Amino acid sequence: MATPPAAYADVVARIARATQAAGRPVGDVTLVAVSKLQPWEGIAPVLAAHHKVFGENRVQEAQERWTERRADIELRLIGPLQTNKAADAVAFFDVIETLDRDKLARVLADQVQRQGLRLRTYVQVNTGEEPQKAGTIPADADAFIAACRKTYGLEPEGLMCIPPVDEPAGPHFALLAKIAARNGLAKLSMGMSDDFETAIAFGATSVRVGSAIFGARTVG
Ligand SMILES: *Cc1c(COP(=O)(O)O)cnc(C)c1O
Repeated sequence: MATPPAAYADVVARIARATQAAGRPVGDVTLVAVSKLQPWEGIAPVLAAHHKVFGENRVQEAQERWTERRADIELRLIGPLQTNKAADAVAFFDVIETLDRDKLARVLADQVQRQGLRLRTYVQVNTGEEPQKAGTIPADADAFIAACRKTYGLEPEGLMCIPPVDEPAGPHFALLAKIAARNGLAKLSMGMSDDFETAIAFGATSVRVGSAIFGARTVG
């Protein structure tokens, strides 16, 4: 195995420390390495270090980057999904973390049937109720999760959130954990480069980390 890049190794070590500090077993938290808008030269060494789980924001960009290297990795869509891209997304991603509305649930369920595939999903919750941000609002989350299960036959495995940039993240992580618990959902996708240790303290089972591993993203 190639020597892991230092920034990647550092994030892995910080996740392990935060997991132990939270009294949780090491390995309890999955690192989703967010490769969007990163040059391949930065991603290749992380892949060579046998990292397997990557996050991407856009369907087409992910296809361009990963189609040739799709075997043996898990790809998660963490950006908003338009219904006209749903067929491609179902075919290409293992996990869609941005399930947030009935129309999308209906189209995804339809594609899962047509393509005969299994799809892992997370319901995105807009914990800060920010108008520009995707996600179901907390007050609608229970009903939407129930509809995903009963109406659409999707069995979300957890919840995902992106807290407002200008607020402490802790209360948002706590709210997401509370909504997950009362709906019997085991997985929490929360925490990014600036706050993944806090997220782990609040129960994150996966953290989505980009710039702390790969550096600042290339613009455009
Ligand atoms: C870009 C992005 C990340 C990674 O952000 P960093 O701050 O670079 O770690 C995580 N989650 C989502 C939804 C993103 O869009």
